[in-house]
Amino acid sequence: MNINTSEIFQYHPMPTLTGRFAPSPSGRMHMGNIFAALMSYASAKSKGGRWLLRIEDLDRQRCRPEYSQQIVDDLLWLGLIPDEGPGSPVDGGHGPYYQSLRDDVYSDAFDRLRHDGLIYECFCRRQDLTAASAPHASDGHTIYARTCLSLTEEQKAEMRNSRKPAWRLLLPDRVSTFTDGHYGFQSANLAKDRGDFYVRRSDGNFAYQLAVVVDDALMGVNEVVRGRDLLPASHEQAFLLHALGFKSPSYCHFPLLLSPDGARLSKRDRSLAMDKIREKLKPEELIGLMAWLVGLQTHWSPMSLDNFVASFCWDKIPQEDITVDAAALF
Ligand code: GLU
Repeated sequence: MNINTSEIFQYHPMPTLTGRFAPSPSGRMHMGNIFAALMSYASAKSKGGRWLLRIEDLDRQRCRPEYSQQIVDDLLWLGLIPDEGPGSPVDGGHGPYYQSLRDDVYSDAFDRLRHDGLIYECFCRRQDLTAASAPHASDGHTIYARTCLSLTEEQKAEMRNSRKPAWRLLLPDRVSTFTDGHYGFQSANLAKDRGDFYVRRSDGNFAYQLAVVVDDALMGVNEVVRGRDLLPASHEQAFLLHALGFKSPSYCHFPLLLSPDGARLSKRDRSLAMDKIREKLKPEELIGLMAWLVGLQTHWSPMSLDNFVASFCWDKIPQEDITVDAAALF
């Protein structure tokens, strides 16, 4: 029998699992953000993976450096230390990546999309969009009516005199599918259900969808764990990744934390903001609370970060959103 040793001994390195937490510093973090940080950390760490922190501060109007600092500080308080990244907030730790410092990489990706004819200029103002866009029946997401796609070169030249255009990705009339690690099989028609989205805004800033895709790919992120509100957007992100020649990560979405009125926890729920929480709870009490809310323990008792990771298992996490009644908790 002929044995081909070169095949047997060929080394197939397994890519390291790399997860990330990607908050936007537009206010002090609240319980929902910390929940997202813990979920992404525990999912990666429970599989022996790495975890990094990326501050998504592209929106220069809403994001502030002091909020970024507080994010780093709140995560350190909980013991969530990135495995890689520039700088060093504590000995042996690593600082976050900042999207606001990465315009050059987004610019390269933008140029490639433009060169390949995959994006087009959009001159619509906010009010034009409201009038012309059709809300998608199932989730209220609006789909751009492609008003600017049919503009002639002369019309565009004239419009550029009075306005700077934004840029949108032209999505094909094609069904996109993927299997989410928690919510299972997903499918959507890119053009009809999702619609052409911004890759660059008229103020020149790159848009979230472009930046998130480029960063995940270049930072070697191969597991994206985040709230289920971003589950549908994974279709366009997977498409954009392929358009840029990158591989898709695996997606795993988790349920949202809701206030008793059914609204998603937000920065408006002041009693669940991290400054208030840190006045009331120790890190292990907060981690234990998260573990209880998400079904990793049967009652609220303190839990170390290591035990949270050790007990983490996607099968125990519910698919339904989780109501948090701050008044009953504290
Ligand atoms: N920066 C986004 C947010 O704070 C999250 C992006 C992501 O996880 O893909 O909502």
